[in-house]
Amino acid sequence: MYTLEPNKDYRDLRLSQTPELMGAELQADTAKHYDDCYHDYLLAWCNMDNLALHYGYWDEPKPYQQHQALLNKNRILYESAGIQASDKVLDAGCGIGGSSIWLAKQHGNTVTGITISSKQAMYAQQHARRHGVADRVSFQVADFCATPYADACFDVVWALESSCHALNKADFLREAYRVLRPGGRLVVCDGFLLQRQFSEEQWQAVVTCLNGWAVPNLCSRIEFTELLTNQQFQGIQCLDITAQTLPSADYMYKVAKRLQPVQKISQWLGLRSKAQTANYLVGLAQHRLFTDKLTEYCIFTAQK
Ligand code: SAH
Repeated sequence: MYTLEPNKDYRDLRLSQTPELMGAELQADTAKHYDDCYHDYLLAWCNMDNLALHYGYWDEPKPYQQHQALLNKNRILYESAGIQASDKVLDAGCGIGGSSIWLAKQHGNTVTGITISSKQAMYAQQHARRHGVADRVSFQVADFCATPYADACFDVVWALESSCHALNKADFLREAYRVLRPGGRLVVCDGFLLQRQFSEEQWQAVVTCLNGWAVPNLCSRIEFTELLTNQQFQGIQCLDITAQTLPSADYMYKVAKRLQPVQKISQWLGLRSKAQTANYLVGLAQHRLFTDKLTEYCIFTAQK
């Protein structure tokens, strides 16, 4: 049996486990992952319209389009958190700007997107200009565990598949709480562990996913609820959307299978970076997290 402990770094077990270095290494590794894989994501997963680096939300009978499912995720988060057009939103872990642009375009929100990758911030800004919302959204490089923003300056903190990148999820929640105004809302959408003990095969799948997606660890829904409570968040709600996420996991697996020959040849030719190959391998491995019920996928909402 293998055990995944909280607040540790499991990416390939290749980095120093020195607490002072871990934060900086983690951020550099995460930025490299997203920089190296920018074109892969656009080719194999999202498009220039949705710019989504997340699983989709499939709430309609199939046949159904991946593009629509990715956009649906924004809609369900918006509704879950009861966001209003006048709300000033911090998109914490904004990727290449998909949700920030959607918020500004669909609802007229003013959005600040932050990412740990300067390339992502630049790409996101370009995409915002192309979508005609550059006056309402801005992108900056900042650590969502220690942002440069004043206390209580946002109405909403939005974290879509990003808080998983925090070594200590409590650090992320503390900062989210600080920048939210009283009454402001937090919405977090992510994968959560259903167990901490794994067989050899399951452990391989889990570590492949953590490593390939530059995620140091995951926590359980119960642990996350505790962290929110400790941080004084009120009205904590958790919506299990694993069923609505599964078609995306299937889709990703199929895409990875289809691209296997391309991956193998280009890897052999030395055309794939380590981060790209690791990211490719998640496409296959992540499926097991769902089929073996090792993780669930949830939307948390809470209020300051
Ligand atoms: N929410 C976006 C992107 C998800 S990918 C979407 O759904 O499309 C995760 C994002 O979190 C990336 O942009 C990555 O740069 C960002 N991230 C990871 N660690 C971070 C940190 N410490 N501070 C700020 N952003 C971080």
